[in-house]
Amino acid sequence: MENQLRKSEMLNVVGELAAGIAHEIRNPMTSLKGFIQLLRSSIDGYEMYFNIIMAELDRIEVIVNEFLVLAKPQAIQYQDYNVVQIMEDTIDLLHAQALMDNIQFEKHFTEPMINCYCEPNQIKQVFINIVKNAIEVMGNGGTIKVSMDETVDDYLRISIHDQGQGIPEEKLHILGQPFYTTKEQGTGLGLMVSYKIMKEHGGRIDVESEIGKGTVFHILLPLKRKEE
Ligand code: ADP
Ligand code: MG
Repeated sequence: MENQLRKSEMLNVVGELAAGIAHEIRNPMTSLKGFIQLLRSSIDGYEMYFNIIMAELDRIEVIVNEFLVLAKPQAIQYQDYNVVQIMEDTIDLLHAQALMDNIQFEKHFTEPMINCYCEPNQIKQVFINIVKNAIEVMGNGGTIKVSMDETVDDYLRISIHDQGQGIPEEKLHILGQPFYTTKEQGTGLGLMVSYKIMKEHGGRIDVESEIGKGTVFHILLPLKRKEE
């Protein structure tokens, strides 16, 4: 049944459902956390149990928040925006985490400013998801190469090249499926959200990978506003 649904249709259905459910889960979660804190401060001797409960609630919150990204933001604002700046902001944001893991960034930007018609917050979300994956896959440190160039067919191609263990060929086509994760603490939602956002922008994500060498995620974003 699931196999018969095309991936894009599946993303839409799941996205709408997820956004609705995520909103509904948020309020009771807040209340639960509040009352657990209250209990914790009035009962002695169960600190370990309270810690586990809070950690599990935090984990639910992370998953719900990732789902909420699927909901269209209240004021979705497409605009001409400098995508190089969005990538600079992303790298700034993740710099500390990368340093701790002994990872450096190598930037190959041809221009300081390349504008695309896009929703900057959503594009930043895509960059964060993919750069974070690159960081998480490089256990022994190394270099993440980030490059941007304009393609002949009017896309801006943003490439994120890691030196991780690579992705087996038979797994490449399931990237972006909800809940596909190989990480103990993974949600398997980051790529799904990213694929959806790129599709809405009229772009796409291509992946090339070599086992033992690394992986390149190419994010293709149209340079020109699409006709409506
Ligand atoms: P999560 O990071 O929570 O696992 P994602 O949707 O971000 O979820 O990624 C899904 C899976 O895709 C990861 O668990 C991993 O197996 C694979 N993956 C994503 N990016 C990379 C990468 N740069 N190198 C190797 N595997 C990757
Ligand atoms: Mg991820």
